[in-house]
Amino acid sequence: MSRGAFFESVSTYFDRAASFSKIEKGLLKQVKTCNSIYRMRFPVRGDDGQVRVVEAFRAEHSYHRLPTKGGIRFSRMVNLNETVALAALMTYKCALVGVPFGGAKGGVRISPASESEGFRERVIRRYTAELIRKNFIGPDIDVPAPDYGTGEREMGLIVDTYKNICMNEQNAYACVTGKPLTMQGIPGRTQATGQGVYFGLKAALEKKELTAQLDLTPGLSGKRVILQGLGKVGFHAVKHLQKDGGAVIVGVSEQEGGIYSSDGIDVEALLRQRQETGSILNFPGAENRDRGAVMEESCDILIPAALENQITAENAPRIQAKIVGEAANGPVDRGGDEILRKRGILVIPDLYLNAGGVTVSYFEWLKNRSGVSFDRMISRHEEMVNREMVNAMETLTGQKLAADRREELILGPDELRLVVSALEETMNRSFGKIYEFWRERDLPDLRTAAFLKAIEKVANSYKDHGIFP
Ligand code: NAD
Repeated sequence: MSRGAFFESVSTYFDRAASFSKIEKGLLKQVKTCNSIYRMRFPVRGDDGQVRVVEAFRAEHSYHRLPTKGGIRFSRMVNLNETVALAALMTYKCALVGVPFGGAKGGVRISPASESEGFRERVIRRYTAELIRKNFIGPDIDVPAPDYGTGEREMGLIVDTYKNICMNEQNAYACVTGKPLTMQGIPGRTQATGQGVYFGLKAALEKKELTAQLDLTPGLSGKRVILQGLGKVGFHAVKHLQKDGGAVIVGVSEQEGGIYSSDGIDVEALLRQRQETGSILNFPGAENRDRGAVMEESCDILIPAALENQITAENAPRIQAKIVGEAANGPVDRGGDEILRKRGILVIPDLYLNAGGVTVSYFEWLKNRSGVSFDRMISRHEEMVNREMVNAMETLTGQKLAADRREELILGPDELRLVVSALEETMNRSFGKIYEFWRERDLPDLRTAAFLKAIEKVANSYKDHGIFP
């Protein structure tokens, strides 16, 4: 797969959607183009004492809303085109689910699994310093988050570096999201993208017209699911599908190989095994398979949650799923997309399905800026009113509520509950809107509908600013 394939796929998806719009050509060009790119090379001392030159990027795709927002990826595959394509997807993703940010993305070309913690720390601190130097990071400028190969630890190191250099910045903690809770992160962020994938699939399977078309029964219960990539996004997606949705996870594929069991795989036990042994293979009750072959097994829902270009013209004819849920960014390339569409397989596109992460990142950013957690904003007055209502209800019915339920009704929801319910609402509402748009405008597929809706929103925001009257 060529390095530009992902970039070209995003470009093709944009152009196809744009062909259904009446937006003037120049404005479309502005919506498509990447506004700024910072390509850097910096020295970092390796564990052997030798200097190594690290290549890294940050792309800020669109300034129609500020700050720009997007994850930082650690991977030896990172390159400029990939970073720009991911930044573009962020712009459309934010517009689609109503997060008021422009899109951005960062990439550092190292292989995280084969580097020491110390080396990764030196790299992320130096990368942050480079971003500060060129004004490519800040609470009102550009706000990174985790992506492939990075997590809470790296985000914590970013904020630590930032606040030590930018000592006068009042909102320093809002310079990055996905931070550990002890560093002003928000509960629910770690699982947000995966949980959002679950809410998105749930919303899709509630549409009876859609399930009838796919020859599926409505609802998630009993649906057979195959996952590629048991990472942050993939694990939480299948965990919620299994525990909350009643779906059966029949196959999992990872770098070391795949496993399959028609009886279902306990994904929490599988993750524990991988953490302990470094492999998903030889899982009790499951058969080992080739990692690519697992994705081609029969199932209702296939969830690619690893990297881009995993379903291409080469393997798309063999995919047996009825739904492909794009948990990763760009897992289906344009050749694969064409074949899946012709075969009547529904692709739920990345720019909608994995938007849960940036949605909860937005809540974290708001929390950091206001300096108070959401549950503390519920006023004392509201608490007193709730208490009186609960007391009156108990007197009227003559029944006492269980102590924990009583407490919950009086004090209101905790922060995690608020975050999860807002995430669910965002994913539900957004799916409803894309689905209606798809039908109303008679568009070829859900991806085109999602892209077109996002493109129109971004284009309109330029008009709202009066820049292009
Ligand atoms: P991660 O590093 O936590 O997990 C990725 C997993 O995929 C790893 O376990 C890795 O071993 C596995 N993998 C890599 N190549 C594979 C292959 N060929 N076959 C099977 N497994 C393979 O990364 P993540 O944060 O879960 O991100 C995964 C995808 O989701 C990326 O495309 C990312 O851009 C996208 N995404 C992530 C977030 C987020 O909040 N982390 C948000 C939106 C989108």
